Amino acid sequence: MKPVGPIPPGYSALDGELAIAGRLASALVAEAGDTPLFVYDRALLDARVAQLRAALPCRVGINYAVKANPLPAVVAHMAGLVDGFDIASAGELAICQRLGIDPPRISFAGPGKRDDELTAAIEAGVTLNCESAGEAARALAIGARLGKPPRIAIRVNPSFELKGSGMKMGGGAKPFGVDADKVPALARHVIAAGAEWRGLHIFTGSQTLSADAIIEAQGKVLDLAATLAEAIGHPLPKLNMGGGFGIPYFPGDTPLDLAQVGAALAERVAHLPSALADTDLCLELGRYLTGEAGVYLCRVIDRKESHGVTYLVTDGGLHHQLAASGNFGTVVRRNYPSAIATRFDAPASEEVNIVGCLCTPLDRLADNAMMPHADVGDLVAIFCAGAYGASASPSGFLGHGPAREMLI
Ligand SMILES: *Cc1c(COP(=O)(O)O)cnc(C)c1O
Repeated sequence: MKPVGPIPPGYSALDGELAIAGRLASALVAEAGDTPLFVYDRALLDARVAQLRAALPCRVGINYAVKANPLPAVVAHMAGLVDGFDIASAGELAICQRLGIDPPRISFAGPGKRDDELTAAIEAGVTLNCESAGEAARALAIGARLGKPPRIAIRVNPSFELKGSGMKMGGGAKPFGVDADKVPALARHVIAAGAEWRGLHIFTGSQTLSADAIIEAQGKVLDLAATLAEAIGHPLPKLNMGGGFGIPYFPGDTPLDLAQVGAALAERVAHLPSALADTDLCLELGRYLTGEAGVYLCRVIDRKESHGVTYLVTDGGLHHQLAASGNFGTVVRRNYPSAIATRFDAPASEEVNIVGCLCTPLDRLADNAMMPHADVGDLVAIFCAGAYGASASPSGFLGHGPAREMLI
């Protein structure tokens, strides 16, 4: 038997079934037309941002990292909740533009920005978080050609990283950002070349549940930003402090102590060095904002035995929910929080393997999981599906097509 991860707060049983925003999973599937389906609950998005606002000092803004969930309905909803948006491609820029999000609220990070992407961002007036001297030079040249000074921030590759981070994004050699010792000269160069100077972006890692690790990294980010601002000799209009707030996915994971992070940050912000006295501060968060607000629903198509093992074969799989299958940057496969949605309050009575419909042994949704007895037609729910789900999965693989998505 292998345990499943903790079901996030905000979900309940109604008439024996999983309810999302007070509505039965089966009714949501009927409304969407069919399974597989991602459902995102806007009330949970609202609640999460409200928790952050209550915990963080008001001086610190919240940016949404659009790549976590770029569904236009979700991005549009976030526009009313957060201060800024971090995008990673011209495609995400186009989503924001179609929704009428004000370009000064948007910053564009990511290595390998193409010239057409830089052009679109500069024309729109989006801040570029430049990842290298070469990219800054291309941005300045494009700005000169357009007759429009680019808005430039520099992404710093710090010499430290976020401890316990699921995905290390700083420390040592990296494709991301400019090594900290090279930042002052590059910043002075872009300012002298006439760019609109927007400050620094320091991202140290992702998916951490340890408040102590986040507090330590935030302290180092503020220290490094102050040192760099002094070396540059110009005030920093803005400092994007990164994020890294994690959510519990697996058995034994416990939620991040947000109050502890907020209190430590408030203390630091109350005693900022003079180099940061007038600097706008923000955090950039993806999965922490949307991850727990989403559920992936698929249907049991077949129930079979093989060598004494029970398989529930669903119409879902890794082509929609790659992360839950354990094939998106994990070493040991563990079970995401999962349940039989149509028997949500029934006792677990049998051990099953819940798999997807792809012809590969990689397509597993829950291994050796204790579940209530389920039959063909029952719905399976995989939780923590609101971030890096639909858009981070190979939906073209095997040609089953994408899952439906709905914001309720
Ligand atoms: C992916 C990414 C984020 C969001 O990370 P989460 O773990 O979803 O919070 C934020 N900033 C940058 C630069 C990123 O690449």
